[in-house]
Amino acid sequence: MNLNHLYDKASELIPLTSEEALFLYKNAPLGELIFIAGKLRQVHNQGNNAGWMIDRNVNITNICFSQCSFCNFCRKKGSSDAYITTNEEYKQKIDELYSLGGDQLLLQGGMNPALGLSFYTDLFSHLKEQYPSLKLHALGPPEVAYLAKKENLSFNGVLTRLMNAGLDSLPGAGAEILSDRVRRILSPAKATSEEWLGVMRAAHILNLPTSATMMFGHIEIAEERIGHLIKLRDLQSEKPENNYGFITFVPWPFQDEGTELLKKQGISSTYTATDYIRMIAISRIVLNNIRNIQASILTVGKEIAMLSLHAGANDLGSIMIEENVVSAAGSSNRFNANEMQDVIREAGFVPVRRNQKYEPIK
Ligand code: SF4
Repeated sequence: MNLNHLYDKASELIPLTSEEALFLYKNAPLGELIFIAGKLRQVHNQGNNAGWMIDRNVNITNICFSQCSFCNFCRKKGSSDAYITTNEEYKQKIDELYSLGGDQLLLQGGMNPALGLSFYTDLFSHLKEQYPSLKLHALGPPEVAYLAKKENLSFNGVLTRLMNAGLDSLPGAGAEILSDRVRRILSPAKATSEEWLGVMRAAHILNLPTSATMMFGHIEIAEERIGHLIKLRDLQSEKPENNYGFITFVPWPFQDEGTELLKKQGISSTYTATDYIRMIAISRIVLNNIRNIQASILTVGKEIAMLSLHAGANDLGSIMIEENVVSAAGSSNRFNANEMQDVIREAGFVPVRRNQKYEPIK
């Protein structure tokens, strides 16, 4: 295989085969990948803007039967620090979110066997009644797959009910690596790759905006990283033409501090700065049909986030007023709105605050 031929193919947005993408990923000099990814960034998002947003992460519950080995956040039922967030707590957190200029909640949490679909639809309806302008970016494919089994409904049936109750968009949570070999080791109780993709397929048909993610740097091999990207690209190519589909792709590295994966299996994060930049660049190149690539400033920090903007990313994500899952596993990056904009300017870009659909907020 010839690198220049692959660069030309990628530059024309022609889909690369798995073999071609893997060859590029393993063999292309980093500087050349960054150059091609930077050009493609311009194809998808002309100009010099870089996006950011304000939202607040609230965890619905930390009780989760899944007990994924990379998760520090989940608790078993009956643990002294297990919780389900109360209506009073939502009110206090949403009031604070509004006072800081945000209007979106990222609602996530464990798969708590005590909570059925009606718990979530009641919660969403209640929040929307109290705050009609609030946007709910909530749950994720594993929760939807779990609720479908629990309630004997299709993915479409669960999503339709959640949307009717106020769900505005579906995060790409729980993708980790879309390889069942990896999932059997890390998160055997969670949705399979096919289930994850199936929920997203149903969401795309319903025109529910979604995002795609990847958590890498643990036990996966290069073939599985590239396989993950190809699965996302192929699913995106199936979406009805004018529907949202995957609005963005966000890769982040495994944070190992205190996780069972580190403690019991001795698997530490393989994260390095160059590995992250290479992942951002190859994502931009392989995902020829996903417009936005977001660097996860909360996990990689300021400097790598800045470099990512030169390697194909066009967004740094949210200042995330509250975030418990990543911070429970050792991340301590925090930015307020001014700092986020300063980071983007320092990298040589123009900060543009946006909403979850990547529409600029004036
Ligand atoms: S990562 Fe999510 S599904 Fe897995 S144990 Fe933690 S809360 Fe549960």
